[in-house]
Amino acid sequence: MKILCILYDDPKGGMPSNYPLNELPALEKYPDGMSLPTPKGRDFTPGELLGCVSGELGLRKYLEDSGHTLIVTSDKDGEGCVADMELVDADIVISQPFFPYYVTREKMESAPNLKMAITAGIGSDHVDLQAAMDHGVDVVEVTYCNSRSVAEHIVMQILVLVRDFTTQHNIVNDGGWHIADAVSRSYDVEGMHIGTIAAGRIGLDMLRKMKPFDVHLHYMDRHRLPESIEQELGLTFHETVESLVSVCDVINISCPLHPETEHMFNDELISKCKKGAYIINTARGKICDKDAIARACESGQLSGYAGDVWFPQPPPNDHVWRTMPNHGMTPHTSGTSLTAQARYADGVREILECFFAGDEIRNEYLIVQNGDLAGMGAHSYSKGTATGGSEEAAKFKK
Ligand code: NAD
Repeated sequence: MKILCILYDDPKGGMPSNYPLNELPALEKYPDGMSLPTPKGRDFTPGELLGCVSGELGLRKYLEDSGHTLIVTSDKDGEGCVADMELVDADIVISQPFFPYYVTREKMESAPNLKMAITAGIGSDHVDLQAAMDHGVDVVEVTYCNSRSVAEHIVMQILVLVRDFTTQHNIVNDGGWHIADAVSRSYDVEGMHIGTIAAGRIGLDMLRKMKPFDVHLHYMDRHRLPESIEQELGLTFHETVESLVSVCDVINISCPLHPETEHMFNDELISKCKKGAYIINTARGKICDKDAIARACESGQLSGYAGDVWFPQPPPNDHVWRTMPNHGMTPHTSGTSLTAQARYADGVREILECFFAGDEIRNEYLIVQNGDLAGMGAHSYSKGTATGGSEEAAKFKK
């Protein structure tokens, strides 16, 4: 079979010859008891770069030894790109949300052999899920592989915004020492009201991680958490997004992108936020209207906005979030730490091994199967597509 894998570029200076740490911490299982990915083999060293072109997700030896063809490219956007040309006779397409290959309906229809789209990570909105359902293409992702990696990033970005780390860091880098400038937007998180839109794997882990800061915790989700967890964490449940945003100082977004959540944070919803709230979005850029966010950061309706997700990816060089005031944006990195890469590379191999052997892929990994939402897809997504506008990614210039 032909497997097409779209990965981000290698480091500018080439692959590292060594890494800061010699080994990764050993984890037994995920917090809810789910087991880590369990492939039958592994041809990479955990802790090394796997998500870039030369890293190949550690798949080449395994796939070629099994008689398959592996094509790896980072050329994924714009007319005539390598990915589009290779897709037409591919059986399986793999890409990462950090550098997504947007498998729109048109692209899917150009690939009659396509059987499966694998997300090396979590969040499969870069695939037109409706088209996948219509054409019998299965969509799977490595559920849980980087959920806790993202929760760590959220905690970091809450502190970066509320304590105003970036201003202070820049003052030091500029050779300065002006304390008044450094603290004129700096607060403690303690005592604040922190809320999350969605308390799935990431949202719940973020709530648990924030609990020791002695804050008031809120959440909204289409699935209510068990009462025991609400009590353990002292959670306030909100029936609507509007109710949550009206009382929270920090609003975290951790729901998937699907037609129900696309542009959820628009001018209207932002106007209902508590004045001066901070928003953290590590879910998907398109859950927010980018211009509405920038306007609110300019006006002070929002005190800051941080996250690592943009739309499209890569975002055009003049994307307004690069320059708006009081932002704490990073590129899409939270789920692709070296630690997380090892887990999702293992997960992709587990999925491929199951697929080739005709074994069932874990139910937790399924988003679309046999023409319908399935597994986590049925739990966390709604039908439809959210890939519209993704062709703008071609505007990014390296
Ligand atoms: P999850 O499936 O465990 O949780 C998703 C939660 O969202 C579920 O509890 C679901 O009920 C809830 N939800 C869905 N639609 C909703 C709606 N309209 N309103 C309220 N709640 C809704 O997934 P997870 O592991 O927590 O990941 C969540 C999302 O985070 C992913 O889909 C992905 O988009 C994003 N993500 C980003 C990165 C990154 O690197 N930045 C990494 C992993 C995941």
